[in-house]
Amino acid sequence: MNDASARAGLTSLRNNLDRAALGAELHDRIRRLYPICRSITGNGVRETLRILNEEIDVHVQEIPTGARAFDWVIPKEWNIKDAYIKTSDGVRIVDFNQSNLHVVNYSVPVHEVMTLSELRPHLHSIAEHPDWIPYKTSYYSESWGFCLPHRQLESLRDDQYEVYIDSSLENGSLTIGECVLPGRETEEVLISCHVCHPSLANDNLSGVSVGVTLARLLATTSHRYTYRFLFIPGTIGAIAWLSRNEETAGRIRHGLVLACAGDRGAVTYKRSRQGNAAIDRAVVHVLKQSGNRYDVEDFRPYGYDERQYCSPAFDLPVGVLSRTPYRRFPEYHTSADNLDFVDPLSLADTVFTSLATLDVIESDVVYCNLNPKCEPQLGRRGLYASLGGHGGSREIEMALLWVLNLSDGRHSLLDIAEQSGLPFGVVQTAAEALVRHKLLRESVRPLVSDFPDHVR
Ligand code: ZN
Repeated sequence: MNDASARAGLTSLRNNLDRAALGAELHDRIRRLYPICRSITGNGVRETLRILNEEIDVHVQEIPTGARAFDWVIPKEWNIKDAYIKTSDGVRIVDFNQSNLHVVNYSVPVHEVMTLSELRPHLHSIAEHPDWIPYKTSYYSESWGFCLPHRQLESLRDDQYEVYIDSSLENGSLTIGECVLPGRETEEVLISCHVCHPSLANDNLSGVSVGVTLARLLATTSHRYTYRFLFIPGTIGAIAWLSRNEETAGRIRHGLVLACAGDRGAVTYKRSRQGNAAIDRAVVHVLKQSGNRYDVEDFRPYGYDERQYCSPAFDLPVGVLSRTPYRRFPEYHTSADNLDFVDPLSLADTVFTSLATLDVIESDVVYCNLNPKCEPQLGRRGLYASLGGHGGSREIEMALLWVLNLSDGRHSLLDIAEQSGLPFGVVQTAAEALVRHKLLRESVRPLVSDFPDHVR
């Protein structure tokens, strides 16, 4: 398959997708993964990766407890079977089986009887949202606790409570999932999602689900770049991966972290640390052309795993594609981030935005005008007729002139789309027509003899 038909592949793939069907696929996957109690280590992540492997080829890697990863050490592995708080008359008033958010993630095992005042420091709730269960973790300090609705916490009476957490915190390993789709080139696009949250839909599972759909779709078409999807525990997973893949990291040319990708809010893009990398420009161009409301934010060193990919020694061109960013929706890290909070059409829209961006990245090549001395005579070449449905439209005429003028071997199609304000797809169509008519050729360098020094 040549480059042009491969590009057509990704474009037609996008054009042939049905938003409603895609939304259902994305939401069904979240529904299936939602009940699993995940954490940064343990069987929840393994079970999740096993399910993902039914759809895409996930290579699983285990990194043992105690192994070093730059300044970090792989923690003990956490697993949990059951947990509850029982009243003295034997009623389970807080039950892990009802919601895995009830237990502070990474709680050490406990089995004690205690008074309310002894229990109280171990209980967490949210006063402003008295019916929601908060999500809390204690990854790097050995403690235990329960989370419950504030209304329930307030109603607890003095009693002898039996508290039981049947968990284990032992030497084991950290689990990382990787799906690699080889392209025509060894240069890579990284798509990274964290996979460490228990029953939370938008923060975590939406990104995972969008990632799986992207991998599934990209596996069906030829592409220029090699795509590497990482399904990893937040922070420690990215650090562990980078510490073991420095050479691979050096091949990453573009990247996206997917997170909070399914709520009903507008798309928000957080730029990479580089700020104006091709991925940053491609996403912004796609969002601008979409006609939808969107936000673009500058890089800052907090958030998701972009913190690691954009640490100074790596400084990878990796941005974050979200809808409402983390912490900016009240449901964030609570039981209200549930299956109703994520919307099938919003999930599908995130997939479309991602695919449109990847389409730009894949097709963003530099051309050389083969007739750079004044404008070629377009009319006699039958160029407009060859553009079929686009023929004669003002937009495509403008695009032909822009592509011819800026194709001096220094401007890529994305440069031309940005400078002209035309959609990337129209610029690309014009370029392909000009190639067919031998007025343009793909090039990494200008045709030295045809351009004056100041252009070279
Ligand atoms: Zn989170």
